[in-house]
Amino acid sequence: MPSPKDPQKLQEYKDKMSRIAKERGYGKWMTGKKASEETLAKMSLSQKAIITDAERERRSATAKKLGYGKWMLGRKLSEETCQKLSLKRKGKTYGEIYGEERAVIESEKRRSGNLGKVKNYSSQESKERLKSSLIRTGKTYSEIYGAEQAIIESEKRSLGHLKRWEGKERKGCRDKKNGETLYKNWRFSVFERDSYTCKNCGKTTIELHAHHIKSWAGYPEFRYDVNNGITLCIFCHSDKHPENSALKRMATKYAE
Ligand SMILES: [Zn+2]
Repeated sequence: MPSPKDPQKLQEYKDKMSRIAKERGYGKWMTGKKASEETLAKMSLSQKAIITDAERERRSATAKKLGYGKWMLGRKLSEETCQKLSLKRKGKTYGEIYGEERAVIESEKRRSGNLGKVKNYSSQESKERLKSSLIRTGKTYSEIYGAEQAIIESEKRSLGHLKRWEGKERKGCRDKKNGETLYKNWRFSVFERDSYTCKNCGKTTIELHAHHIKSWAGYPEFRYDVNNGITLCIFCHSDKHPENSALKRMATKYAE
């Protein structure tokens, strides 16, 4: 139902919509109010009803076909399936295997799974693994594998790495030709405007950085906008990017 242009009709329309919202228990006026238990039960029922039996059938068939979902719990994939899957996944990013959205979930699953795990080092298998990894620690490939095999092993790993990045544009990477000049000019203008002073702590005789207020990756349109830049010293800049471990290392090194 489109909203009418006539102001009087618009008001009538708004009143009507708000009346309906009130009757049915949704909309702005519900903000901060709790839905009654009855309403909640109704909502949950209607949510469930959205997935029809046919749809559930279809999803479960897909899950079975692709080998994921509840029914797989506790089952092992056949050796053949494992090999096929592993071949299919080789050299691919999670995004390519699962699609961008599920990739986030999959990588989080593995990460949190590993984080929470108490490793059982006492099993024979684990002991063997540890031992063989200790034997390799601090050694070059040729020490581990012998000179000839070393070349093959190192090639294997480097190829895998290259393959993963093949044809891919790296996010947030500076465009080498044109962007580098633009970036240098932008940085210079930010420093000039701020008189080569950290705008957070006021230090001047210190390594200075030009920080993007709106992020480089998130706001390409403001990358070279001087108003989107601020001069920060290496420490204040590192504080702005707690996720950037390289910057943190730089700052720590600078402090030494
Ligand atoms: Zn500072």
